[in-house]
Amino acid sequence: MERMERTNMLTIGAFAKTCRLSPKALRLYDELELLRPERVDPDTGYRYYAPEQLEQARLVAWLRRLGMPLARIRQVCALDPSAAAGEIRAYWARVEAETATRRDLAAFLVDHLSHVTRKDTTMLELRYSALSDTGRVRPANQDTAYAGARVLAVADGFGAAGAPASTAAVEALKFLDSEPLPAGSVLNLLEDAVQGATRAVQGVTQSQEAGTTLTAMLWTGSQLALVHIGDSRAYLLRAGELFQITHDHTMVQSMLDEGRLTPEEATAHPQRALLLKALTGGSPVPVPDLRLHDALPGDRYLLCSDGLSGVVPTAEIQHILTTTPAPDQAVQALTGAANDSGGPDNVSCVVADVVTTASL
Ligand code: MN
Repeated sequence: MERMERTNMLTIGAFAKTCRLSPKALRLYDELELLRPERVDPDTGYRYYAPEQLEQARLVAWLRRLGMPLARIRQVCALDPSAAAGEIRAYWARVEAETATRRDLAAFLVDHLSHVTRKDTTMLELRYSALSDTGRVRPANQDTAYAGARVLAVADGFGAAGAPASTAAVEALKFLDSEPLPAGSVLNLLEDAVQGATRAVQGVTQSQEAGTTLTAMLWTGSQLALVHIGDSRAYLLRAGELFQITHDHTMVQSMLDEGRLTPEEATAHPQRALLLKALTGGSPVPVPDLRLHDALPGDRYLLCSDGLSGVVPTAEIQHILTTTPAPDQAVQALTGAANDSGGPDNVSCVVADVVTTASL
């Protein structure tokens, strides 16, 4: 009987060959309880595997090849096939989102290290305007919007100290408007500025459940460096097309990324304002997104709080940006559109046009 059983089973070497895992890997997976052998000989300690275990072993091998951590593989292996498929989809969406963030950082660094002053003598400048409005429902305005010769910023405060938090975050960036920019160090400059903003927010929120989003741009004369944390947004209108250039740090956006929600479900989700990242009084201090954009004459940038983007359809935002000639008209029209739609939230807009100096 003992002998019969053993002939049905595969030795660890034969099993390893068939499922393309090494015997060493199989021993590790046994220890981690990912894949236990069907039988271990009590005398010799040899491991024996049943042919029915091949499918699971192959799944483990594929998931390892995908780079999935062992603990997560153990979860996937315990699920039925359709739940396992959902878990693998979610894992991969997360990998792609993280890779995209690292790709942006790599592009930023390449730009930063290889940026040479342009040979063409075109002088570019910003024309800008900022407007923040309480809206029609909220008792107070916790948003802050600011536009200066070099700094554009929108911050959306929340919690009891939301208003001082958003003000503090933006105030902490304003020094960049008045000091000459050191050459070639925009990345460090922005990172330091955001650390300053974080300390400023911590100073006003103390331990309260309060904080702020921060979406800001720094003008270098030929480029716009972007820093972003939270669910305020930046858009670029270029050649008639509108591009959202920030990614919301919200629970709903991450569920969208992982394919767990459709865009229609997202707009109606009860927790669509729940932030995954923000500047708060607590720790850990979240890492902001950083990007660098080459400016072209005719570009129009919009920074806004969710009191605009969550209320006014993107097509209408694009229409307003396309049809209003001056930035101050544009910010008036945009806040007006949010209030015409009920003005349920504070609404803030910054519009900045890249123009050649000659046309000023
Ligand atoms: Mn808001």
